[in-house]
Amino acid sequence: MSELVLDDVTKVFDDGGDDIVAVDEVSIDIADGEFLVLVGPSGCGKSTTLRMIAGLETVSSGEIRLDGEVVNAKPPRDRDIAMVFQSYALYPHMTVRQNMSFGLEESTEKTDDEIDSLVTETGEMLGISPLLDRKPGELSGGQQQRVALGRAIVRDPKVFLMDEPLSNLDAKLRSQMRTELQRLQENLDVTTVYVTHDQTEAMTMGDRIAILNDGVLQQVATPLEAYHQPANLFVAGFIGEPSMNFFETELQGDRLTCDAFEYPLSQETLDAIGDATRVTLGIRPEDVAIVDSESASARHDFDTVVDVVEPMGNENNVYLSFASADTGEGTTVGSQIDSDNVSFVATIDGMRSLEGGRSVVARFPESAVHLFDTQSGRTLK
Ligand code: ATP
Repeated sequence: MSELVLDDVTKVFDDGGDDIVAVDEVSIDIADGEFLVLVGPSGCGKSTTLRMIAGLETVSSGEIRLDGEVVNAKPPRDRDIAMVFQSYALYPHMTVRQNMSFGLEESTEKTDDEIDSLVTETGEMLGISPLLDRKPGELSGGQQQRVALGRAIVRDPKVFLMDEPLSNLDAKLRSQMRTELQRLQENLDVTTVYVTHDQTEAMTMGDRIAILNDGVLQQVATPLEAYHQPANLFVAGFIGEPSMNFFETELQGDRLTCDAFEYPLSQETLDAIGDATRVTLGIRPEDVAIVDSESASARHDFDTVVDVVEPMGNENNVYLSFASADTGEGTTVGSQIDSDNVSFVATIDGMRSLEGGRSVVARFPESAVHLFDTQSGRTLK
């Protein structure tokens, strides 16, 4: 059992008399064997959170518990936690074998022979057996990363902490290592907290993801929950690539209005909105449907013009602008007002060809639309 609990954990830095609240009452229960990804933009407090768990940073208030025991005051070496850094932090003068076994003699009861076979086994698991007698300077970035992982694995810790461990690798190797790391973590079944600013990494690797912004925890959820049911505007915009399209609107009667369009709402959606008046309408690029002009008739169809098409292979990202209402062009559906410079993106099948300048009808199905209170960012629907 290696359950890790953060209970109202806060970190305040004193920056020359000014208090910087880097982590603000963060509470997360991380289950035994779980892979939790801590994700958020630069400066949101991810590394500070990880460093507090490791014991490299003190906790200003709140508790960190490992298997029910409060570890706030425990020095790092007594926490039974292994950390993998972005920089790998390998000793350049030591061989891979020495790097992996360094310090194990003192920290475990194991004999030299036992340590040796543990390193050999771990080397095999990571596919670095032929490299065990080399020094870090003679290895590629990906190989060094494996050594850093190997060093964490041989310690057989209760918890792995990983701080952007793949960010120094090129895109292809990064995606390969993502899969390998996931498989490894599943096999080893060690509770893992993995920090990244990359939402793709978070979405593909985590059992659950914890999204931080400005030191405040926004949501802890499975990747799919965070994607489909974001807790607020921040999460909705942070998770997903390309990002969700947002339009700031006002509720007038039974419709949302903005410079680009009017969007009539069903009674059910009106009920969900309650008494909010400034409402941000969000729609994911893949939920925007491009429909034939002939079949356009629905209340949520809009005349648009293709600006740019970005081919992605199996998909195309189509950047669209609302067609000017007074041109009288195209099928007049939905209600368009003034549309200058309001653009958005739709993701469509890669086989479907659309060229810049073409007029098309874009549909925002009401079932796919997300709504947020513009002021508080709270999810309404
Ligand atoms: P990045 O992705 O850029 O590494 P992060 O999410 O890991 O960012 P942290 O490094 O945890 O963010 O920093 C959180 C906040 O705390 C930032 O505003 C940072 O400037 C501040 N901070 C971090 N360490 C210190 C320190 N030792 N003294 C003062 N402020 C600090």
